[in-house]
Amino acid sequence: MDTEYDLLVIGGGAAGLAAAQYGARANRRTLLVEAMAAGGQALLIDALENYPGVKGPVSGYDISETMRVQAESFGALFLTAGATALAKEDGAFRVTTDEGELRARAVILATGAQHRHIDVPGEEELAGRGVSYCATCDGPFFKNRRMLVVGGGDAACDEASFLSKLSDKIVLAHRRDRFRAQASLAERVLKDPRIEVRFGTVVKEIRGGKKVESVLLAGAQGEYEESFDAVFVFVGSIPQSELAEGARKDEAGYVLADDRMATSVPGLFAAGDVRASPFRQLITAASDGAIAAHSASQYIDEIEGAAYV
Ligand code: NAP
Repeated sequence: MDTEYDLLVIGGGAAGLAAAQYGARANRRTLLVEAMAAGGQALLIDALENYPGVKGPVSGYDISETMRVQAESFGALFLTAGATALAKEDGAFRVTTDEGELRARAVILATGAQHRHIDVPGEEELAGRGVSYCATCDGPFFKNRRMLVVGGGDAACDEASFLSKLSDKIVLAHRRDRFRAQASLAERVLKDPRIEVRFGTVVKEIRGGKKVESVLLAGAQGEYEESFDAVFVFVGSIPQSELAEGARKDEAGYVLADDRMATSVPGLFAAGDVRASPFRQLITAASDGAIAAHSASQYIDEIEGAAYV
């Protein structure tokens, strides 16, 4: 395997795939490094319906695979490996992966974000045994059963709507008195007779032996225990920004980047869910990736003294 590249893209979600495509199209020797299958969080999407120009619904897997094949057709290379360290030395980047060391003149960090947990007793113990962070993956196991969805953002509303196709016993518990989610998603949930919304409600404990049996909830009326077969947790995400050690980040750990996706480290760009931004969608991730690759290519021109000025 070659170890020298113009551009290394770390992360194979929508941001990384778009960056790889744009990097390759700019005639930069581009390698995308991803530990798992390409697609990232989009793989969890059952039916994508809000990507302009894609008349849906199309699955997250299908659109990710199309993006991967498209990037490859323009010459982007792919390596299945986990990236474990990133360092800048002698004006270039050294990326350590479990398949060896790679060097590149510019790097795009597109490592995304991971599901946040509610950190209550029983959550960790019953994960995979009724506690889930992916409705598309695990919802079908609980057809016609009682399911609790936790959260109040786009993900909780979107996933509750998906689960309500499988069961009419969906309870959505949110700690506040209204949703954070976009109005269209919130309204769909509020109008759905198969979803019971409980505002001002928090999960105190998830109980069960080999599988989820009940949940201790707390609302205006105090604490109460209720039977559930599954608990779907959608309470936001934690950025996977450990590799960007030297770059400036916000309080939550998201990487700060300017409108060219440039971080505080020259030559290091950030795209998608790992970047501090007010709105995280598949389309904004793809857009970030395209901008980051364009900027990275310009950066390479600058260090080569070939910039168009
Ligand atoms: P989010 O927008 O950060 O919302 C997280 C929700 O979980 C908030 O309502 C928050 O409550 C609640 N929460 C946080 N910590 C909690 C805790 N410990 N216990 C109970 N509740 C807790 O996250 P998200 O919904 O996962 O969305 C992430 C990003 O993906 C967003 O940018 C979103 O737009 C995007 N997304 C879009 C779509 C779509 O367009 N179809 C679908 C999924 C995700 P508070 O409101 O009180 O803070």
